Amino acid sequence: MNRDHDRLHRDETDLRGLGMTELQAVYLELQLTRAELDLLSMPRRSFTMSFPVKMTTGRTRMFTGFRVQYNDARGPAKGGIRFHPEMDENHAAELAFLMALKCAVVNIPFGGAKGGVVVDPAELSREDLELVTRGYIRAIADYIGPFKDIPAPDVYTDEQIMAWILDEYEHIMREHVPAVVTGKPPELGGVAARRYSTALGGIHVLEQALREQGMESKGLRAAVQGFGNVGENAARLLYQRGYLVTALSDVQGGILDPNGLDIPAVIEHKKRTGTVSTFPNARAISNAELLTSECDVLVPAALSNQLDQNNAHEVQARIILELANAPTTAAADEILFSRNIVLVPDILANAGGVVVSYFEWSQNLSNDVWPEEKVLARLEQTMTTAYRDVSGLCREAKCRMRKAAYELAVKRIVHAERLRGNL
Ligand code: NAD
Repeated sequence: MNRDHDRLHRDETDLRGLGMTELQAVYLELQLTRAELDLLSMPRRSFTMSFPVKMTTGRTRMFTGFRVQYNDARGPAKGGIRFHPEMDENHAAELAFLMALKCAVVNIPFGGAKGGVVVDPAELSREDLELVTRGYIRAIADYIGPFKDIPAPDVYTDEQIMAWILDEYEHIMREHVPAVVTGKPPELGGVAARRYSTALGGIHVLEQALREQGMESKGLRAAVQGFGNVGENAARLLYQRGYLVTALSDVQGGILDPNGLDIPAVIEHKKRTGTVSTFPNARAISNAELLTSECDVLVPAALSNQLDQNNAHEVQARIILELANAPTTAAADEILFSRNIVLVPDILANAGGVVVSYFEWSQNLSNDVWPEEKVLARLEQTMTTAYRDVSGLCREAKCRMRKAAYELAVKRIVHAERLRGNL
């Protein structure tokens, strides 16, 4: 597979342990009982498997895989499959818990899961990658299914891998089961809008936040860090909606134009050269400069831990939209809150992807194909409602939006457990 190697490094820290400080505060605030705390601190099911794969060389290699179903009180477990050399069970469990919270915040009927294989796909040929994917699915086939646990793409896994997962699972079941996996190619029951749904969902919540602040979106200056799936789509959609995208970056560096960058031209440039950093007619800046550049909206869409105690004082944006997972450290969160900067937290801001995955699953179950307008309208409705739920709680409790989002999610999960009689 064609992979840029920077992703390997970035994902090492992705979400590790993050959100936990905020969660402790939420647990205290909600005065959870011992039983409730125990229930939230342990994954319901966690599988570790070793499986043999006869590689194209004819040699057999053993691989280790995981799948963690953290909580499924609100519906079948849902979460990505990550192929990464540093994947481990604990990290899978943390990510699975965050998926459970994310699905609860946007109120879709899923629990949270995560899984993966300890492998560096960059070292495998396409044929071997397919063999490993199929081997992993044979190993977890008993534990997944449309009403048990539904995998999706994550770090280093994509639409093609989801297609192999579907095919292998259907071979095992000897029938069509399209709802077993989401993020499939549209030709196999996937939803085309899934490709930009994380960015679009984020923009819907951003526009709600702007409205609440009495700010007009047209002409607002936005700086976007990261130009991959999420960052590029965010820049494109912001530009189409009349924002001035003043700064952009990728792993190689950033660019700035206070009058607004020509985003279609930047996209074209990146296609040709592989980076935005050499785009002509713009000032070259570093990633660090981007974060504190003059703008109204800052959109971290690359790595975790980008805003910390060293730069949070210098952020000039009035609103931060966390499209990346965990781009803000707990210390920076405090500083930004004290400076009255509105921060739309990751579990709300980047939930658009899993929302459209839910639409894909629903369509597959009813053997239906929704027109794109229906997908987009329901995405907007779901994200807008989630924003209002979180912001309502925020106003009531006079707390930051991250805390309100965690509180809402935890309450919803605990409530579902109580209704089931588990508490
Ligand atoms: P991606 O790999 O497609 O893109 C990552 C981008 O970040 C690339 O442009 C890369 O060059 C850039 N980057 C890497 N290191 C950097 C650095 N040091 N400084 C600045 N930029 C750097 O990934 P993606 O799918 O766009 O995901 C971006 C973030 O959004 C991640 O935190 C991911 O977990 C989160 N996220 C993604 C989705 C999704 O649907 N893809 C959903 C929810 C959350």
